[in-house]
Amino acid sequence: MYMKRNLILAGVVVSVLIFAVAASGCITTGTPKEKVLVVGTSADFPPFEYKNPKTGNITGFDMDLIKMVAKKIGYDKVEIKDMSFDSLIPALQTGKVDVVIAGMTITPKREQVVDFSIPYWKADQAVVVRKGSGIKISSPEDLKGKTIGVETGTTGALYVKDKLGNSVTMKEYSTYVAALQALLNGQVNVLVIDSPVANMFIHKYPSLEIAYVIQTNEHYGIAVRKGNKELLNKINSALKEIMNSPEWNKLVAKYFGG
Ligand code: GLN
Repeated sequence: MYMKRNLILAGVVVSVLIFAVAASGCITTGTPKEKVLVVGTSADFPPFEYKNPKTGNITGFDMDLIKMVAKKIGYDKVEIKDMSFDSLIPALQTGKVDVVIAGMTITPKREQVVDFSIPYWKADQAVVVRKGSGIKISSPEDLKGKTIGVETGTTGALYVKDKLGNSVTMKEYSTYVAALQALLNGQVNVLVIDSPVANMFIHKYPSLEIAYVIQTNEHYGIAVRKGNKELLNKINSALKEIMNSPEWNKLVAKYFGG
């Protein structure tokens, strides 16, 4: 009697186990692959993208924003690829990344090779100097004769090249960290960098200050491969939704402090 019951029980246990194994097999083979959005950035542009000094993880305003966008348009996760700023557009063109978000200014020249989303932020170019350097800038003319540090491939570099030309000495650095170091060391007189990032830097380095702001009236956008309309339209509607929701204010407060 007992034997029989035990046998039945054992039978039930075994079939449950077989079923569980089969079911889990089903789950692993039957579920579609995770949808991953591959994102290119250049993580030395606080507060938009930077490495958390404690964890080394790439974080920032742009990173949170692209995660929110990706979720809204049906991606399971984002994969961040960090590279120098001037490698971003080539990486997008060759398919190494699906989108670029890097405090990147929408410019007519870039629009010839990639497509941009609607703008999500505004910036100008700040002239950063060492406090006590005695450098007074009250118009771009005052930059003449100066040694100016810029990051390669940025709108700051472009401005210096196009507007100041041979009247200044321009030194290019592949990262802002290197350009900043050059200013701190006195290898350059000034830095020309995006105003929101300059504001972060002067908080972190009290020996620096903003001497002047050149009103370049720039707008940041998310870049996709030229002609990738489908992705661009989705990104734009997600951006519009996010920018009109309380989530946006929370995001701004998180990285720009209220
Ligand atoms: N906004 C500037 C540009 O697009 C700088 C961006 C950056 O260095 N991440 O060139």
